[in-house]
Amino acid sequence: MPGNPIHWRVYLVPLRLLTIYFFMSFDRELQKRSNSICELCGSDEANIDYLVPHSPGSKLEHHLWVCPTCHQQLEKPETADANHWRCLNESIWSEVPAVQVVSYRMLHKLKSLDWVPDLLDIVYLDDETLAWAKASGDDVNEDDMVKHLDCFGAVLQSGDAVVLTKTLDVKGATFSAKVGTVVRNIRLVQDNPEQIEGKVNGTSIIILTKYVRKSNL
Ligand SMILES: [Zn+2]
Repeated sequence: MPGNPIHWRVYLVPLRLLTIYFFMSFDRELQKRSNSICELCGSDEANIDYLVPHSPGSKLEHHLWVCPTCHQQLEKPETADANHWRCLNESIWSEVPAVQVVSYRMLHKLKSLDWVPDLLDIVYLDDETLAWAKASGDDVNEDDMVKHLDCFGAVLQSGDAVVLTKTLDVKGATFSAKVGTVVRNIRLVQDNPEQIEGKVNGTSIIILTKYVRKSNL
């Protein structure tokens, strides 16, 4: 759209001021709520506005006021210092839902520490806060997840190709699926780790994972 550049300049200045004011006011509100200390560990070096990941919005209630140490370890949980996160013993009982959410997720990431499971056992979050906390998937224990393994123990995924290691009779069909048959683009049967689904001779059949090996073809 052809426009007079002078007009644009006139509008741009107030817009930029508005943006700066918006961020400043958030910092101020967070400092007020937190008494200017890190809402997770209580450090008085807090200076970062942290938007809790997987939040239902980006309002003030979805932000935390945190210190650089907490912030860095939240961003890179693999660098988490077990001693530092003793603070979760207190923060998990905060009245601020965003603090509960981040504490809950961090506790699940640190589950291997001896004091964490006991604390998780007594933690209480209301339904809405719990759903928000779980939105990141940090509470899912990988060991509990259903895994489909081939006859050698390799993990199978949807879309993989497999080779039959045994000739299988196909129920209700006039053919058998011969050993060595390559089945492409398999689908995992969700609630049964021993079964996958794939097409042989154009017919979808259920195959037991113990009779297949993953193929790289
Ligand atoms: Zn902190």
